[in-house]
Amino acid sequence: MSTEKLSTGNLSTGNLSTGNLPSQNAPARVIDGRAIADAALSDLSVRTRQFRDETGHVPCLAAVIVGADPASKAYVRMKANRSVAVGMTSRTVELPVSTTTEELVDVLRALSEDPVVDGILLQHPVPVHIDERVAFDAISADKDVDGVTSASFAAMALNGGGFESCTPSGILRLLDATGVELAGKHAVVVGRSPILGLPMGMLLLRRDATVTYCHSRTVDLAAHVGTADVVIAAVGVPELIKGAWIKPGAVVIDAGYNEGNVGDVEYVAALPHAGAITPVPGGVGPMTVAVLLEQTLAAAVRAAAVRA
Ligand code: NAP
Repeated sequence: MSTEKLSTGNLSTGNLSTGNLPSQNAPARVIDGRAIADAALSDLSVRTRQFRDETGHVPCLAAVIVGADPASKAYVRMKANRSVAVGMTSRTVELPVSTTTEELVDVLRALSEDPVVDGILLQHPVPVHIDERVAFDAISADKDVDGVTSASFAAMALNGGGFESCTPSGILRLLDATGVELAGKHAVVVGRSPILGLPMGMLLLRRDATVTYCHSRTVDLAAHVGTADVVIAAVGVPELIKGAWIKPGAVVIDAGYNEGNVGDVEYVAALPHAGAITPVPGGVGPMTVAVLLEQTLAAAVRAAAVRA
């Protein structure tokens, strides 16, 4: 299967309005999330250096992880490394799996009041005995660079200038970089979690797409997906979405990440149908981290303005 890689380097190929997407069996364009994220991070490094020179403050991202899940630890390590690579500092707070909701809330409140810390990330998921919503809401909205608090969610839904949920925000950036026009298009979001599917649909709605949410109780998922101009897979079930379901020319964004580098979409089978598609890995993941760090710099800039 031949594919054309799409990155910021070759965006002159024209917009994907889904009215002019390739017809069935034309090779899908692969959306190179890593290249798009690298371009964003390179720009962020420059802006971070300028901010440090102007204020003498080094933006700091604090990551809190509860328990010893190897995948979560790897994610936190990778985010810390990327933050240092763009000129920020990082602080990782590792808490034992036995941590209570109250103890976690205390840690998050202390970080919220620490003037050295600009952004706070609570690695999801937390152990099941912890009330994740209560913990998220202990993060000050000013430092909620992962966009997980109820306040950020409300601001995002109402178009109000809070920090956006990183993965959905990153997905919009990938769609924009690919030239996908969303207004009037039918977007089907499979998954409705508070950190991914639910805010994704709201951001698409804000961009004038017509949005359908699908979830575990949806009847005939194949029929819904088959009507989508844009499919967002946000489930966590390997290859749940079959390639044959994809409408010819539809844009497919696979946010799923399952063991063995497998997404939620049957990637190879989707290639002949999709107009453009993200790979797993190298699609949504890198852009999520780029948005997290961009929002950390934005938080530092706002805090510096308040201090001045
Ligand atoms: P989650 O909280 O478990 O939510 C999964 C969603 O999928 C739920 O809304 C669930 O429906 C729905 N679902 C489950 N089985 C389904 C089925 N058979 N048909 C239709 N819908 C179904 O997961 P999440 O945190 O949103 O993560 C989803 C995936 O995205 C995971 O693979 C995760 O690793 C990945 N992810 C990637 C990034 C990134 O940066 N790349 C970031 C976050 C998450 P109900 O609501 O009805 O239960």
